Amino acid sequence: MADEVSNKLLSGLNRISLAMRSAAWGDATESGLTPTQSQILAFIAARSAQNPRSGDAADALGITPQTASVAIAALVAKGLVQKVPDASDRRASSLKLTRQGEVAARVAAQWPDFLLAAVQELDPAERKLFLRILIKLIRRLQTDGQIVPQRLCVTCVHFQPNSHPNNPAGLHHCAYVDMPLGDTDLRIDCPDHRSASPEVANTNWSIFLRTAASKN
Ligand code: SF4
Repeated sequence: MADEVSNKLLSGLNRISLAMRSAAWGDATESGLTPTQSQILAFIAARSAQNPRSGDAADALGITPQTASVAIAALVAKGLVQKVPDASDRRASSLKLTRQGEVAARVAAQWPDFLLAAVQELDPAERKLFLRILIKLIRRLQTDGQIVPQRLCVTCVHFQPNSHPNNPAGLHHCAYVDMPLGDTDLRIDCPDHRSASPEVANTNWSIFLRTAASKN
């Protein structure tokens, strides 16, 4: 049974989600792309270095392979995406943006001004806390199998929480780029993410929870 505050939080999140969906459909009408097609364009742009396939897009966006396939066929027909034979598997093809697709993907990846303005209304400390809360919620949903795995720092093999307890540039460390990470540097969709084992991820999460709240 949800308590009163939890109900209010979920109701507030629902209102924001409605505004985002409505903005996505407004943009879709303007650009001639459905929200799914726009998300796939942004996905291909973000993963271009990894030669993404149709199945990768379906997994990342939490849609069925059929839905991804139909949306990709429409993007190919519009001249925004090309299917390129995969060098490692002749039966498969990876997805590439055409030049026109790159432009459309940049537009698709932009947040509506009204959402940016609302988030920028938060002061830096509130934004930092909000990011931490989002990471906590996303990780929990992921652990419960309610959303597909996201490329979060806190589940990454390269993440070293609280490695620099006295460093004002960042408490944590990314071993991939060999640099400190502050709470606001934490990524939600990092292209260099590599999943840590459940044991390592759980240990790192406990350290992150203990330290970041009090010191960052
Ligand atoms: S590689 Fe990316 S996800 Fe992993 S710790 Fe570094 S910044 Fe975070």
